Order: sequence, then C-alpha cells, then structure tokens
Amino acid sequence: MKVLVINAGSSSLKYQLYNMQNETVLASGSVERIGMDSSIVTQEVPGRDETRDVSEILDHVTAIKRVVDMLTHAEHGVLERIEEIEAVGHRVVHGGEVFKQSVLVTDEVKLEIRRLFDLAPLHNPAHMMGITAVESNLPGVPQVVVFDTAFHQSMPKESYLYPIPTVLYRRHKIRRYGFHGTSHHYVSDQAAAFLEQPLESLKMVTCHIGNGASCTAIKDGKSFDTSMGLTPLEGLMMGTRSGDLDPAIVPFTMNKEELLLSEVNSMLNKHSGLMAVSGISSDMREIVEAMEDGDKNAKLAFDMYTYRLRKYIGAYAAAMNGLDVLVFTAGVGENSTHVRAAACEGLTFLGLELDHERNAVRSRQTRRISTDNSRITVLVVPTNEELLIARDTFSIVQDK
Ligand code: ADP
Repeated sequence: MKVLVINAGSSSLKYQLYNMQNETVLASGSVERIGMDSSIVTQEVPGRDETRDVSEILDHVTAIKRVVDMLTHAEHGVLERIEEIEAVGHRVVHGGEVFKQSVLVTDEVKLEIRRLFDLAPLHNPAHMMGITAVESNLPGVPQVVVFDTAFHQSMPKESYLYPIPTVLYRRHKIRRYGFHGTSHHYVSDQAAAFLEQPLESLKMVTCHIGNGASCTAIKDGKSFDTSMGLTPLEGLMMGTRSGDLDPAIVPFTMNKEELLLSEVNSMLNKHSGLMAVSGISSDMREIVEAMEDGDKNAKLAFDMYTYRLRKYIGAYAAAMNGLDVLVFTAGVGENSTHVRAAACEGLTFLGLELDHERNAVRSRQTRRISTDNSRITVLVVPTNEELLIARDTFSIVQDK
C-alpha cells in the first residue's frame, strides 16, 4: 500500500509518499507560500535531482492538486496513476481530550477537530484545510489523523492539571496537553527496540529538542508527564520561546512597558529563548559557534538552555523514582554534542556516565552515547514523525 503523509500549515504544506511494503520514502516535498503569488513546489525523489516549480497557488485544494500532479508527473513523478495512493495520513497538532490515538477521518472526527480550533488556532484550521483539500482531489481515499497530543493523554491528573480554580478546567479544558507526542512515541519505541527490552519495563526520559523543545517522562510504556502544557510555550527554554517563567511576569511587564497582551504573548513566543538571551540567533549552531569565539551572551544562553534541560531530566527521574534510559532527538538533540554533554554533566549523581568519544560521533542511526558501565543508558535516536503517521495510517486503513 502507498500512503501519502501530509503536514498542512496555513501557508505551507509538507508531504511524503511511503511504500508501506518496505517502509521506504518514494518522494517527499513541500508547497510553500500558499495564498501568495509565486508559490513554490519542490519534490525530492531518492537518487534524482530535486524538481522545483513556481506558480500561483491560491488555496490548499490547488496545493494538493499540484502535489498529486508532481507525484504522477510523466518525467518527475513516481506514480503511474493517482489511484495508487490508497490512504492519506495527516499530522494534526491538537486532539484535545477527545483523541487518545490516531483515527480514521469521519464527519464526526472533522467536527471534533473543528471544536478544537480554539485550543490550536494557528494549526488545527490549517490541518482541516488539508483534509478537505484531499477529499476534493482524492475522493473516496481513506484519511487518518495523527495527533501531537494523543500520546500524552495517558498522563495522570497530578501531571496534567494546573493548580488553578477547577472551574477553568471544567469550562475551558485548561490543562496540560503536551505536544511532539508523535516524536516522543516514535523515539521511545525505537529506543526500546534498540535495547531489545520491552518499553513497559523501562523508565525513560525523551528530550525532543529542535526549534521547539519538550521533555517527556515515560513509565510503563506511557507518557507520564511532559514539559509543554496548554500550549507549546511551557517547559524548556527554546529557540525563540521562553519556556517556564513566573506567570506574574506577564502583568508586570504589561504594566511597566505599557504593552498589550498580544504583544507580551508575541514576546514570549517569538522574541525570547536563545534569541533573546544571546542577541545573536535562535539556532543552536550559531550559539555554539559564537560561544567558542568567546561571546559571553551566547555562553549565557547556552548555559541557561542546558541548565533548564538538566533540571527537567532530574525532575522526571524523581517523578518516576528512577531513570533507565535518556533519549535525545530532533535537530539539536540529534546533532549537538555540546548540548548533550552539558545536559548530562550534572547527572553523574544518578550514575549517568557519558562516553565523550561516542557522543562526538555523527550518524543518522540510533546509537548509545553512555559508557557501558553507566547506570543510565543515554541514546541518540533520530526522530521520524512521518513514518509513525504512515504506520498508523496503514494499520488503521487495513483494519477498516
Ligand atoms: P523543528 O522543531 O522546526 O522541527 P528541528 O527539529 O529540525 O526543528 O531542529 C532545528 C534546529 O536544530 C535548528 O534551529 C538548529 O538550532 C538545530 N540544529 C541543527 N543542526 C544542528 C547542529 N549541528 N548543532 C546544533 N544545533 C543544530
């Protein structure tokens, strides 16, 4: 079966076409600048040059049509007939409390995703546009939705409730949802498979650190706690997001700086984190470079970032009364030897011993970076959210 995986944003869309027989990617690509002039479609097929096309794409229906045209293109395509796409899987950011796992798209499911627009106003409406655009271009093809929040629905109340008036939870569902669930789920499965041990038997902390960043405590094979909250702002310090802070900073800053709520919101989401402290960049590569050149602000940003990461790992080890496996993934986690080393440095009291030679090796494979004697196994596991979406889609459509 061939499965098309789609991650639809408001003005862009990414896709991958999988052959599920051997779980290989036949083609991947993106449509950028949807709704603007000169939209760009790019497609990569393993072993061939990238194809790029610039044209006007005003909406998601046209964007999906262009994707299908690309995939079936006589010269650049990989499919002979559009009918070869037997299922489509979508990434959906927010599944609220309703969706605890991936599901087949039905009218009821679409209604529920619409009801969740409030909780993810930037993401869920765009995902809906992707779903309806597939309906019009590939009528009758089953679609599956895979939620970033679903994996964290196993959290107990003490993890997901905030200590605020409970009426806010009852009325507005204000609680911790957590994000990056597809990635935390995927890398925890991969880590257990790599160690040849059942996931249920391992206490694990997974650190998904890319532009956005979150840590998850996994116990009995399930998410037990996670650092992102009602929105992806809480938790770790990130590229441009503050992560945890005293909530009183919001009214205090509004008052002192005469700012609107929307301005403070934008400050915390887009102008904080590594970017704000370093004054240089939100990209960890540039922070490390500047730090090595002696820039004090870059060093401070790096130290704050890794200190906060280490605090979360330690807190989750305490929350689970132990830690067997620590996993690093996503852009920073998979690539930054410096961040991994600094985060692990203060965890020797738990019996964690990093092997610095192993940590320095660059690879796209799952690998161990702790010593053989370390009480905690530290792994780098490349994430692959698209593959998990393709797998869920395949299995749900097969069982239909
Ligand atoms: P997203 O959260 O947008 O999916 P990624 O997981 O791809 O992002 O992570 C992107 C980030 O990864 C970049 O902003 C950059 O900071 C970081 N990154 C990528 N390569 C390296 C590297 N070699 N060293 C340090 N950081 C890196």
